[in-house]
Amino acid sequence: MKQTIPFIKGDGVGPEVTASMQAILDAAIAKAYNGERSIDWLEVPAGGEAYEKYGSYMPDQTVEAFRKYNIGIKGPLMTPVGGGIRSLNVYLRQTLDLFVCLRPVRWFKGIESPVKHPEAVDMVVFRENTEDIYAGIEWESGTPEAKKFYDFISQEMGVKKVRFPETSAFGVKPVSKEGSERLIRAAIEYALAHGRKTVTLVHKGNIMKFTEGGFKKWGYELAQREYAKELESGHLEINDCICDAFLQNALLKPQAYSVVATLNLNGDYVSDMLAAQVGGIGISPGANINYATGMAIFEATHGTAPDIAGKNIVNPCSNLLSGVMMLEHLGWDEAAALIYKALEDSFAEGCATADLARLMENGKPMGTKEFTSHIINLIKA
Ligand code: NAD
Repeated sequence: MKQTIPFIKGDGVGPEVTASMQAILDAAIAKAYNGERSIDWLEVPAGGEAYEKYGSYMPDQTVEAFRKYNIGIKGPLMTPVGGGIRSLNVYLRQTLDLFVCLRPVRWFKGIESPVKHPEAVDMVVFRENTEDIYAGIEWESGTPEAKKFYDFISQEMGVKKVRFPETSAFGVKPVSKEGSERLIRAAIEYALAHGRKTVTLVHKGNIMKFTEGGFKKWGYELAQREYAKELESGHLEINDCICDAFLQNALLKPQAYSVVATLNLNGDYVSDMLAAQVGGIGISPGANINYATGMAIFEATHGTAPDIAGKNIVNPCSNLLSGVMMLEHLGWDEAAALIYKALEDSFAEGCATADLARLMENGKPMGTKEFTSHIINLIKA
């Protein structure tokens, strides 16, 4: 079986982490399936290089390739400064309606962590990707649009609470029943499929009663309506937590949480805080998925790290582990397991890129290429 995977190599450190991920995935697939399965890598343009060549940071052909193959993987992309697209990542998520940002967070033995029991952190975050204040509906302070918006809410809607109307910028936070339900349904389906019992709805419904509060209410209603049997039999448990309390609890008793479903902005904070507990965004993978169409784009969660680009020191694990998530998405679990095992063995003996190795007691810092070869050797052995 040959699977075509369109990939964006990315800007800055992107080409280095992409090359590493591809070499390791290819080695694991070859070992697991004796040549009966393989990936046909199809490079598609995006980012700075695409802009120079095609005059667009995200050419249509790239979006079309993702649509055609229903899958893809991307390295980090620079955010164009000024005009046009706000963020290439946000653009892709919205254009392809990839409504879930999936961020599994687990700890690897050997990785230094700022907490005492990083092994207790084993969560999968479902962050809503298309609504909330990330929808980008906002008006700059001092513009005619901001004034028009203020005039509407004050005159037509009776809003009297804007403290400094003349200099206020305004943003709109749309949160829908459909948008909340499809995200929460995906989280519940994932929990059931992976034997994870608890789904926690994380929200700020105590303050934002109709948006964040709506998310929570629709979540409970959906669970009662569509998963009554699973709730009754004890295979599923739904609870909720206010976001600020969740951030505290996730540090103090992380074992209480398994699958987390949350809106966009909360999800942004929650994912990175949890990532820090297990060793930082350098080893945290992510994916953007539409669970209705099955389309999924896997990605490194860090940025382009221009300060270290081209120096053979970048940690490729975030991009690599997003590749492992892609293998699992394809059902190629045997190859995924080989990579997890090789990483566990490597970290246990202190072999890692410098950002991780310098924090390990037995750390042996390796360059990106040397670390990649080391992982491939462990897989082959
Ligand atoms: P960054 O993640 O690129 O870098 C922050 C710091 O972490 C830097 O010191 C960097 O050297 C270090 N770092 C990041 N990844 C690392 C890795 N894998 N190994 C070792 N060290 C690593 O964040 P930034 O500097 O704020 O952003 C740079 C650019 O990346 C911006 O244009 C930003 O918009 C973009 N960005 C893209 C994505 C994405 O494509 N998913 C995400 C975040 C930022």
